[in-house]
Amino acid sequence: MKDISRADTALRGRLLWFVERPEEHGAGAVRYIEDGLLVLAGGRILAVGETSALRPALPAGAVIHDHSGRLITPGFIDPHIHLPQTQVVASWAAQLLDWLNTYTFVEEQKYGDPAHAARGAAFFFDELLSNGTTTAVAFCSVHSASAEAFFAESERRNTRMAAGKVMMDRYAPDALTDTPQSGYDDSKALIGRWHGRGRQLYAIAPRFAITSTPEQLEAAAALSREHPDCLVETHISENLEEVATAKRLYPECADYTAIYEKYGLFGRKSLMGHSIHLSESERQRYADADAVAVFCPTSNLFLGSGLFDWKAMREPRRPVRIGVATDIGGGTSYSMLQTMNEAYKVLQLQGQRLDSLALFHAMTRGNAIAIGLDHLIGSFEPGHECDAVVLDARATPAMAHRMETVTTLPEELFILITMGDDRAVEETYVMGEPKKPRKRG
Ligand SMILES: [Zn+2]
Repeated sequence: MKDISRADTALRGRLLWFVERPEEHGAGAVRYIEDGLLVLAGGRILAVGETSALRPALPAGAVIHDHSGRLITPGFIDPHIHLPQTQVVASWAAQLLDWLNTYTFVEEQKYGDPAHAARGAAFFFDELLSNGTTTAVAFCSVHSASAEAFFAESERRNTRMAAGKVMMDRYAPDALTDTPQSGYDDSKALIGRWHGRGRQLYAIAPRFAITSTPEQLEAAAALSREHPDCLVETHISENLEEVATAKRLYPECADYTAIYEKYGLFGRKSLMGHSIHLSESERQRYADADAVAVFCPTSNLFLGSGLFDWKAMREPRRPVRIGVATDIGGGTSYSMLQTMNEAYKVLQLQGQRLDSLALFHAMTRGNAIAIGLDHLIGSFEPGHECDAVVLDARATPAMAHRMETVTTLPEELFILITMGDDRAVEETYVMGEPKKPRKRG
């Protein structure tokens, strides 16, 4: 048996994680231990197995967090969310471009104030951790102060996060625009200060082709070439009017994807938010470039943007990597459980269905693969960082009542997704430490 004499912490509960995609590998993709023990040293997983086998070998001083009977999964991962939009959620707008101009650009201007940004970041992290989200890839505002506030808060909580200051140099209020040079310089300085510091990672963030000139997209591409291990996050093909506008601004490009291809922003580190209105040629190029399509179901429904076509993306001869994200504040819930609930319904409307194992995989290991961090997070295999969420499928009276008839794990998981939210999150662990800020009580 593995030597666990240097273990300092253990988590006990019903452990669930994935080693493959359930939709492709069935039961072989799933790891489940009814009375399991996650054994940690320095926040990393040293061993995982049956409590009865591992507990006798734990050193005397190890702290045991006992959640017997509760489900424990890797912490949820949200690969597309906006820090400065916590007070944009639930704005009554027509569609994307109206929503941006009327509400979003007004709120984002406030993030130039470091005090406002710090308060917003503290709220944002409280909300993520309350919902069991331990990693996110975030857009900050155009101001360096917003990214500074984000990373300072993340460092304080020791969360593994990625973020970037948005780059936009046109079609936004003056207070929200940078220039190709200042956007490059400010991003570069933030990369130097934060990328790879502790658990922090930088994501280069040209907002989308409409709000960046060709010169700015070139500057973003230069950053990406100079820092090839940084993520790139942007938006694409969310809304038909947006697609038409982007094509008008870049008439030399055959389609929207070609814009990001032309400027070197379309590769395996690229998180392409929304990716709804795509042609077969574009999907093929996603697969060829290994770019990631990020599905934001609550946002797509709320803004009436369109229905993400999972099946077309995962076409077996050229599967595209998919992430699933909240997109707060176009999205309407911080909860990844609720996000998967709406993802399920978006697919239902198109005659497609994912089962509950596939949905849980998507927000843990699936999203870790999407952001290129599956060697670090999204799994309970030894060597991974221990970010975890403890779930209670009887968290509300309606859930407890429904659970009376449940006999299988997949049924329980589907109830968590369909009926659960932050109330179903009993605890959130970050590197093996309990960090849920708002406990039930
Ligand atoms: Zn977005």
